[in-house]
Amino acid sequence: MDVDTLWKELEQHRTITPGLRQHIIRLYSRRGKLALEAIDEGRIKKYLDFFVVTGTSGEYVVDEGFCTCRDFIFRGGRCWHLLAVDIARVTGSYQRIDLWYQDVWAGENAHYKQYLSFEIE
Ligand SMILES: [Zn+2]
Repeated sequence: MDVDTLWKELEQHRTITPGLRQHIIRLYSRRGKLALEAIDEGRIKKYLDFFVVTGTSGEYVVDEGFCTCRDFIFRGGRCWHLLAVDIARVTGSYQRIDLWYQDVWAGENAHYKQYLSFEIE
């Protein structure tokens, strides 16, 4: 299965079947594994404004192909958070939270806010 077929299948089934899990891991290797783990553990949250992924060292905001993690910002590559949100979005595998994440941001997360406002404005 190639990447295009995988995404078509995910959209069609709207669920991550055991077969599709295997394909995700084969096609995306480490990123795929980490994305599936986060989905399994309910670490993808959809706030009213942003998707938020809880990773090993904090929460990352994912929006329109942008992520606030170090991998994304400093290595310019696609990180597993983006992949996790893409999978969660097409399959509905996320927790819906009826709050604005911008209102939830605490002072300790101020540096994320800085990255985001830089990107969005
Ligand atoms: Zn990321």
